[in-house]
Amino acid sequence: MSSPKRTEVIIVGSGSAGIFAGTWLTLFNIPFRILERRSGPLEIGQADGVQCRTVEIYESFGVAEELLRESYHVLEVAFWGPNRDEMGIERKSRAQDTERGLSHMPHVILNQARMNGLMLGVMERERAKRGIAEEKQGILYGRNVKSVTVDAESATDPDAYCVKVVAESDDDEEVWEAKYVLGCDGAHSTVRKALGYRMLGDTTDTVWGVMDVFPRTNFPDIRRKSTLHSPSGNLLIIPREGGSMVRFYIQLPPGSQAKNVRLEDLQAAARKIFQPYTMDIAETFWWSAYSIGQRLADHFHQDYRVFLTGDACHTHSPKAGQGMNVSLQDGYNIGWKLGQVLNKLSPPSLLETYVLERSKTAKDLIEFDREFARMFSTKEQNPGAFAEYFVKSGRYTAGLTARYDDSQVTDTKKSNGDLASGVSVGMRFPSAQVIRFCDCKALQLLGVLKSDCRWRVVIFGGDINVDAARKKLQSAADCLEQIVKKFTSSGQDIDSLVEPIVVLSSRFQEVEQEQIPNYFWPVTGKWKIRDLHKVYVDDEHYNSGHGHAYARYGVQPDVGAIVVVRPDQYVAKIGSMDDFDALRCFFSGVFLEPSEEG
Ligand SMILES: Cc1cc2nc3c(=O)[nH]c(=O)nc-3n(C[C@H](O)[C@H](O)[C@H](O)COP(=O)(O)OP(=O)(O)OC[C@H]3O[C@@H](n4cnc5c(N)ncnc54)[C@H](O)[C@@H]3O)c2cc1C
Repeated sequence: MSSPKRTEVIIVGSGSAGIFAGTWLTLFNIPFRILERRSGPLEIGQADGVQCRTVEIYESFGVAEELLRESYHVLEVAFWGPNRDEMGIERKSRAQDTERGLSHMPHVILNQARMNGLMLGVMERERAKRGIAEEKQGILYGRNVKSVTVDAESATDPDAYCVKVVAESDDDEEVWEAKYVLGCDGAHSTVRKALGYRMLGDTTDTVWGVMDVFPRTNFPDIRRKSTLHSPSGNLLIIPREGGSMVRFYIQLPPGSQAKNVRLEDLQAAARKIFQPYTMDIAETFWWSAYSIGQRLADHFHQDYRVFLTGDACHTHSPKAGQGMNVSLQDGYNIGWKLGQVLNKLSPPSLLETYVLERSKTAKDLIEFDREFARMFSTKEQNPGAFAEYFVKSGRYTAGLTARYDDSQVTDTKKSNGDLASGVSVGMRFPSAQVIRFCDCKALQLLGVLKSDCRWRVVIFGGDINVDAARKKLQSAADCLEQIVKKFTSSGQDIDSLVEPIVVLSSRFQEVEQEQIPNYFWPVTGKWKIRDLHKVYVDDEHYNSGHGHAYARYGVQPDVGAIVVVRPDQYVAKIGSMDDFDALRCFFSGVFLEPSEEG
């Protein structure tokens, strides 16, 4: 056994959750290692449903274009049920997949290997950009983690390397000491077992057959997402990226064992379900049978030093296409918080909000999946009931219903929600089209709030050509600058921790840059030049129409509002244009003042 190695964070598993947590740590310049049992990245298969919310997150990391270009876009769903003589199936209805205006991003399908690959690219790009040595960060393949232990006594010291991880690699054993460990190691999590935690819920597993196939068929909806309830069983069609491959999910009868499932059986089951249509499978690209129960871990952390994420703490059926999404969003939630704590921007108590927020999300997911699975698997009592339920669940399946409870980073109680009635504290900041003032580009405001470690204060300042509004905006700039300076290390750009974003309701042709308070176009960066990318206008664009952002956000131009947005695009607080004591108090709970040394 070699002598122990040290790093700040060990992530066990390079699945969706692990990669997202790792990406944040890269952005925060934190030394970390991902220990992965496999010999290389995931190459094929597993989940494929990508929620609108997940696409928004990929956009925030700058890789939405690739994702949108390569994926299948789910725009419509067809619902099939038994035909009149109950000998085959017929189409019952078709519906829009995602409610209009829910997100500026669509629901898409892309295989998990590629989804992970895109984020691995971001991790690598950001590491290279920062000139961080390979020995400091990144994935170590071929490491099978065997045990994780926390030294509870030293865990009270925030700087202690109090977690020990033992991993097997080839014939050797590696020992790691870390300040924090993330168990991102999937449904059979070794980390969870090492902590002695259990999964509670179903006592038996449902077995699913999944096949990515090239079908020769006369079934008319083969390129449409479809649910098939047939006398011979139920099947879900997910058209795949590329134009000719299709995924079939088939729920296998109770008592089935994943290891005994054969491809021929799945193909035969599919042929029967599609009757009276023909289903000849020209080739099967990938298939799997896996068993899954609806279960939740009894604990999500130990001493707030080891955290469970993804399938390691929640498992459920694949029917609603949530697995990869909720898991990667766990990693997305814990990653920035760990980054802030390890960089001493926030107290360690920030990590408690991971457990608060994501255990609730996981619980909601299990409840949702239980009902969804029941509706999918049981015979409809009333015709159309499943289709109706599916449409109603659209917001949930798009990933846009998560609402985090109050904590040091979510302040509903002291927010004035009426000032921005289209925005909800604890939920992700919605999007609307605005015009960037400096270059007249029409942009989605959510897309402006990149995942780059910064908090945002979005100031709805009204019409700058109205005296009262201009004065309010100036005093907002003065107060905000003072508050933000207090928490920003000297020598750092004034927008490096909290970035101000101004949205005006003025006519854009009637605004001049000089009218904008200096704080909103600060001198920053390597060349110390003015950053003009913080001011946006809600007006008719030359080519792209009007975004009606004020109406969408429910802000009255003559009153205005200030919305605080967290690094993960969730709304932390809504306040008025003049209550800066409340804002100062809020940020004092989030941030630590920098030490003398900076
Ligand atoms: C075979 C399979 C097929 C699936 N198919 C579908 C599907 O069709 N549709 C769907 O919605 N969902 C599917 N899922 C579920 C979906 O993939 C998961 O919900 C999602 O991947 C969870 O992400 P995660 O990061 O939590 O875990 P995972 O993506 O499972 O990643 C866990 C990682 O940890 C690694 N690991 C595990 N143990 C150790 C250890 N001891 N040491 C080091 N590394 C370790 C694993 O190799 C893996 O890379 C499938 C899962 C599996 C396993």
